[in-house]
Amino acid sequence: MSRQDYEVVIGLEVHAELSTKTKIFCSCPTKFGAAPNTQTCPICMGMPGTLPVLNEKVVEYAVKAGLATNCEISENSKNDRKNYFYPDLPKAYQISQYDKPLCEHGYIEIDTQDGNKKKIRILRIHIEEDAGKLNHDEFGGGTLVDLNRAGVPLIEIVSEPDLSSTEEVDKYLKKLKSILEYIEVSDCKMQEGSFRADVNVSVKKKTDTKLGTRTEMKNMNSFRSITRAIEYEIERQIDILEDGGKIEQESLRWDEVSGKTFSMRDKEDAQDYRYFPDPDLVAIKLSKEYIQNIKDSLPELPESRHNRYINEYKMSEKDAGIIVSSKYLSNLFEEASEICKNHKAVSNWIISDISRILNEKEMEPNEIPFTSKHLADLVTLIDKGTISSSIAKKVLTEMFENPREPEEIIKEKGWIQISDEGAIKEVVQKVLMDNPQSVADFKAGKDRALGFLVGQAMKATKGKANPQMLNKMFVEEINK
Ligand SMILES: [Zn+2]
Repeated sequence: MSRQDYEVVIGLEVHAELSTKTKIFCSCPTKFGAAPNTQTCPICMGMPGTLPVLNEKVVEYAVKAGLATNCEISENSKNDRKNYFYPDLPKAYQISQYDKPLCEHGYIEIDTQDGNKKKIRILRIHIEEDAGKLNHDEFGGGTLVDLNRAGVPLIEIVSEPDLSSTEEVDKYLKKLKSILEYIEVSDCKMQEGSFRADVNVSVKKKTDTKLGTRTEMKNMNSFRSITRAIEYEIERQIDILEDGGKIEQESLRWDEVSGKTFSMRDKEDAQDYRYFPDPDLVAIKLSKEYIQNIKDSLPELPESRHNRYINEYKMSEKDAGIIVSSKYLSNLFEEASEICKNHKAVSNWIISDISRILNEKEMEPNEIPFTSKHLADLVTLIDKGTISSSIAKKVLTEMFENPREPEEIIKEKGWIQISDEGAIKEVVQKVLMDNPQSVADFKAGKDRALGFLVGQAMKATKGKANPQMLNKMFVEEINK
């Protein structure tokens, strides 16, 4: 049998850190990157005798996420203790939600390769606290614990096993991430771990009705690793089944360097977490008005912006998709277009050069260092003829390196377009003299010769000559 005879079944548990100012059960700040253990207090350090108080914003943000992903919101919910010991969790239990999560039975729609829509069902979204961080490598031989992250609020978004390929996983995760960014409940910075996924993978023969045994890969925080790890795991499972073997239900660790998964010694799935309602916290009761108010306050979601761009700006489905994939890019587009009144040029810059540079630098859109005003000014400088579009590309690169006003950059670098008639004429006459063959070709009706001459003039002026003026003057001079 071959891979074609198997069906892949994937489910995802996504953890997103909520961007509240303070932690879920105490008033410690949640800012990323502070010195170890400087954002802690007796509550998040798990000292005996301390009492947690639920941060109301956490509930609000989770309800927002639930409503934006078509979930039903529970009016009655509660917190439970999930008991397990790990050195980064000093209480020896995590406060989470067990049988009464805040949100249930939602879905997200993704576009499939054949041009259809597919609903990926969301089983539940619940709130919980994050654990601390263990630093294994910084100090030879020892491990140190940093509890700054302990008590940072999380939502866990659990999908049904509705995904059947890496492409679908990629689309689902990107859509989910963009929704959370749009409703501003999480910054979703994957490199900082604020958006990470546990991936469950199983395979079964197409003729089988029963699901296969699944393996789980935990805490994946890059799209590329997720795709590679799933591909590897599918092949590994099929190979085992083809050899007549059995898949073990286990937690695996993906190793980016070797491109393989490894079995982890502790099989957390097999543990009994001994859930019980946290006696230190009151039940969560939400009124219908409370839920309705949050629903009314939701901003425009990516789906709606997508449709608006296609209808209002006549953007292609694909281009609109690229821009709305990130709220940051979408805002950049709207704000810059508003300033320079040239939405076509702004969208072209975002889709082509800006996206390319982001890719090359492996940057997220929200790390773009320049403002929408800078981008708008760049477009205006081209529209006014101050710089050519080839110079503008160099200005954009500079805006990424050392962001400042585009006007300042071109002055400083001496990149202002030469639009002075006398100066252009001088260049044109020199190029004509140096290239008599091209002049003859053009006269003989070979239009391409003109392009060559303009190119030579551009070269001579280091791309600074006004191309429209060059074209016009070459034709004039040759026909004299
Ligand atoms: Zn604290």
